[in-house]
Amino acid sequence: MRRTANHLADGREIIYFDDTETAPRTAVDSRDLPAQAPRSEIRRDPLTGEWVGMAAHRQTRIYKPPADLCPLCPTSRGRPTEIPEPCYDVVVFENRFPSFAQGVPALPSTVDGMPMVEQAGGLGRCEVVCFTSDHDSSFGRLSPARVRTVVEAWADRTERLSALPGVEQVFCFENRGEEIGVTLHHPHGQIYGYPFVTPRTERMLATAREYHAEHGRHVLGDVLAAERAAQVRLIGSTEHWTAFVPAAARWPVEVHVVPHRQVPDIPALTDAERDDFGHLYLDVLGRLDGLYGKPLPYIAAWHQAPVRVGREHSWLHLQVFSVLRTADKLKYLAGSESGMAVWVNDVTPEQVAERLRAVRVN
Ligand SMILES: [Zn+2]
Repeated sequence: MRRTANHLADGREIIYFDDTETAPRTAVDSRDLPAQAPRSEIRRDPLTGEWVGMAAHRQTRIYKPPADLCPLCPTSRGRPTEIPEPCYDVVVFENRFPSFAQGVPALPSTVDGMPMVEQAGGLGRCEVVCFTSDHDSSFGRLSPARVRTVVEAWADRTERLSALPGVEQVFCFENRGEEIGVTLHHPHGQIYGYPFVTPRTERMLATAREYHAEHGRHVLGDVLAAERAAQVRLIGSTEHWTAFVPAAARWPVEVHVVPHRQVPDIPALTDAERDDFGHLYLDVLGRLDGLYGKPLPYIAAWHQAPVRVGREHSWLHLQVFSVLRTADKLKYLAGSESGMAVWVNDVTPEQVAERLRAVRVN
């Protein structure tokens, strides 16, 4: 793999990850872009203690451009995009409309002088990851070698963002499909460097700590062993990874892809584990697309350890889930889910696992 870092016309960083030693990436961004002045902020909900990001400048971002104006395609003659090179394998660049960024203005420590409502600048970083220069492809159609390059990019970005001022947790994820609210169809994911530990991670760490105090082991390790023994929710496994539908799945389609060894984050994976991941994940994605006989809208979310706390109680895993409960019906987050955070699932995890296992993957 070859890594090349450069800058876009407005100073944002762009990093190329190529599958093999290729020609150096030296193309210059010829666009006349205004300098970046992100203004995001965070406020703490005084009733739940959870942080909320505010990024009003994002309202002006590009919404569903036609394919010939895709900003994630390589630059071609007379049509400059976010990527100055005429082709690429995997490329990462800073989001032009970030929810969190370096250099955000400092703010008073409370909202309107209300001492119970803390606020701060949204100090962090948001990046875009393009998985291929082929506009009409998808993650599930990448080669195992390309998935390995994507894993290298995730590992690199997790390490580098963890070292940035203010960043407390790094989140690599992919939103796929219009049903998820994706505004660009080009195969891509995102990486957030958050200025706080996320509520979901806080909750999982607290549960893992309690379980460890009682049993002396990590809860996910015990779940993994139990799912492998029970088999009813298993989707597949390789030497280093297992995929299964979680026993208390919230979403109508949900699969967890878990490494057999407890590691805090993607950079801690060995070469063998990084190689092995793509084979299982591509199989899982093939089954997801086969479930309803059409590309499944999904969210793929990497759960990684925070930068500074709880690392010994973290166990890296990938959660893939969909809002589609039948071929043409969406699961909405209505009263119980949105108001009370209580999920009610219309299908059982055992039924979903059986259907996913029955999908023929070519
Ligand atoms: Zn494109």
